[in-house]
Amino acid sequence: MINRVDTAAVHAARNDFRVLGVHAPPLDLSTTYPIEDLSDATADLDAMLGGDRPRSEKIYARLDNPTVSRFERAFAELEHADDSVAFGSGMAAITAVLLAAKQRGNHVVAVRPIYGSTDHLLTCGLLGMDVTWATPETVGESLRKDTSLVMIETPGNPTLALVDIADVVRQAGKVPVVVDSTFATPILQNPIALGATMALHSATKYIGGHGDVIAGVVATNNEWAKQLRIVRLLTGALLHPMAAYLLHRGLQTLPIRVRAAQASAMVLAERLTNHDAVEDVRYPGLPGCDPHNIVGTQMAGPGAMIAFTVHGGHDAAAVMRAVNLATPAVSLGSCDTLIQHPAGLTHRVVEADALAEQGIKPGMLRLSVGLEHVEDLWKDLDGALKAAVGAEELVGAR
Ligand SMILES: *Cc1c(COP(=O)(O)O)cnc(C)c1O
Repeated sequence: MINRVDTAAVHAARNDFRVLGVHAPPLDLSTTYPIEDLSDATADLDAMLGGDRPRSEKIYARLDNPTVSRFERAFAELEHADDSVAFGSGMAAITAVLLAAKQRGNHVVAVRPIYGSTDHLLTCGLLGMDVTWATPETVGESLRKDTSLVMIETPGNPTLALVDIADVVRQAGKVPVVVDSTFATPILQNPIALGATMALHSATKYIGGHGDVIAGVVATNNEWAKQLRIVRLLTGALLHPMAAYLLHRGLQTLPIRVRAAQASAMVLAERLTNHDAVEDVRYPGLPGCDPHNIVGTQMAGPGAMIAFTVHGGHDAAAVMRAVNLATPAVSLGSCDTLIQHPAGLTHRVVEADALAEQGIKPGMLRLSVGLEHVEDLWKDLDGALKAAVGAEELVGAR
């Protein structure tokens, strides 16, 4: 049965609760498990070493944990995927995807802009893979015989640049495409339904939603899920069951949190566009920011992330200092509004010419719109912008 996303968010992987006699998922914190039958355990161990889930014996928590598996099954349902595999962070998930791909070929094609640490992981040579940076239009011509993965992020961090997933999948042909869909969440975008092999999320952001869990998750087909579970058990990049419990709980309110934050973001993006202290606003819901009509087709809505550039470059730091309600902090997707400076923080590790090429200017700020009342948020932002430019005559247009 395929439920609508609001229903799936509330009920996914909870259908055995009546049989169990519970109303909240059991939280299993065991590191090891008593073995009932040694030959069953050996068979299950063999299955898990091959990337499968156990049938009866759990054996050891690095191999399988029921609370984590329950979240994974719920998340797979939201992403219309066979399965999903959860990790101890978004970066652990990205590393696992790259290590699994490396078994098949040493070359990756990636599109900028992309999360700063992903960019750094790809360029620093740690994993020993060759990387070709492509534009969304040149993915096809960048492929080589040993290309094992195409990696994109949409909306892209931090400029909110949008990529047409189906077009990249078409260019990639038989090469698997992984989409970092963190900014969109499964509520606004489903990369698997558009032909991508993997939808990857930093679950630290909207999925957890309350700024108290670090996690990553990859929704994918059964074949890739096996590969990722093998990498996870070998490298130990596990998600803690308590974190999985919180993520599963976060899913229940994900649709309403995303839509409420999005409604405020639309208002703020519009007003920022008309503000005298602001030079440029990037938001998928603004006409100039979506040349390929991604919003309304690939994406169900423009989301709740905004990037804007203040006049005069370094005034950005002053805006971050002057906000009272918003938290000046990296990360995103929390209940509270967060504001940060990409060039100085999240994208500091990115090469200078790559920053310039993507339009990540010293005056750019990234806003993760939260669940506060939109008028309180506007008062805070408008006040901070005015304080930063230090000019009483600047009037934020409504
Ligand atoms: C935060 C983030 C990551 C990294 O996730 P962590 O959970 O911090 O390891 C990857 N991609 C995007 C788009 C992010 O915003």
